Amino acid sequence: MPSTFEIAVFEGDGIGPEITSPTLRILQQLSQASSSYELAFNTLPAGANLYARTGESLPKASLDGARQADAILLSAMGMPSIRKSDGTEISPQLDLRNELDLFAGVRPVRISPGQRTPLKLEGGQSVDFVLVRESTEGLFYSRGTGEVGPDEARETLVITRKTSEKLFRFAFNLARQRQTAGQGEGRVTCVDKANVFRSFAFFREIFDAQATLYPDLTADHAYVDATALWMVEKPWIFDVMVTENMFGDILSDLGAGLMGGLGLAPSADIGDDHAVFQPCHGSAPDIVGQGVANPFAMILSAAMMLDWLGLRHENPAMVQDGNLLRDSVYAVIADGKQITRDLGGSSSTEEAAAAVLDRVGAS
Ligand code: ATP
Repeated sequence: MPSTFEIAVFEGDGIGPEITSPTLRILQQLSQASSSYELAFNTLPAGANLYARTGESLPKASLDGARQADAILLSAMGMPSIRKSDGTEISPQLDLRNELDLFAGVRPVRISPGQRTPLKLEGGQSVDFVLVRESTEGLFYSRGTGEVGPDEARETLVITRKTSEKLFRFAFNLARQRQTAGQGEGRVTCVDKANVFRSFAFFREIFDAQATLYPDLTADHAYVDATALWMVEKPWIFDVMVTENMFGDILSDLGAGLMGGLGLAPSADIGDDHAVFQPCHGSAPDIVGQGVANPFAMILSAAMMLDWLGLRHENPAMVQDGNLLRDSVYAVIADGKQITRDLGGSSSTEEAAAAVLDRVGAS
């Protein structure tokens, strides 16, 4: 009997629904072809448009539905035109991170030979590293509660031992997994600003203590400013990077830029018991309804979901399908004939997704 996994689906705002529906079709085809697992989708309401209609962005029933699902697939959320009274955007994805304690934000950066990138890579050279961003504290800790006076504003950065230890263990385990899969050299770089801030010296100390538990791996450090420079100058030196929330927020967009844009940047927010898989980009209101949104970041996020479910439930067929899905996307990119406008092509969202579906079906 195949195992059935319930997937909570949030279709999101703007281009969210446009990239969700082909992604679900691909997942459906993979699961129907598999004798090892089935996927049952449960679509739940949340987001900026819901907030505009009802005053609620993440109703309790949706949060409960997400909590009891095996995994959560979340599309682009938020609309710059719909804001709370304090001026901030509606972001149920941030609420989910806190509610479900999703402390590890995983942002893979992969540039295959032939892929469009602003970098000047030598022929055949590729980039493949993962940025792990702490996602529940750091400078985002005081989100919504920062103090604003007439002449001064303050936000508080919080780093706790408990979350940092879990975060670093997650990063080291990921490096080990990648090394076993032949994907990295088994190295974790702690990205901080320990030369200026005590909180980051504390962060680094905890990292060094955790590193001693992984003698088979290499642990090193880099300052965040130097990291930004090296990500542009020599990104191939990185394997797994681990950093604070705000630094990770900024560096992950830099990573997306290196990959040729947000349309190719997937992500996962992972905790001990739950995980959300979501493209890094926002709801792209400037292109909504035109059918030109790139679905690949969403499809690659779905591939990460299959990896995570497969590893967690010891279901190798799911891990294999995750790899197949990722490889299919990169094969379509390398082929270059059915890619969307943001990648230099002229295909529609549906055509680009159909090209991935064809490759998946042909394997
Ligand atoms: P947020 O703050 O919600 O993350 P953002 O400010 O980063 O959002 P996006 O909505 O991600 O903004 O859009 C930034 C730019 O990237 C826009 O020009 C948008 O059209 C483009 N873009 C984002 N996602 C895609 C996509 N999947 N396909 C094509 N273009 C995209």
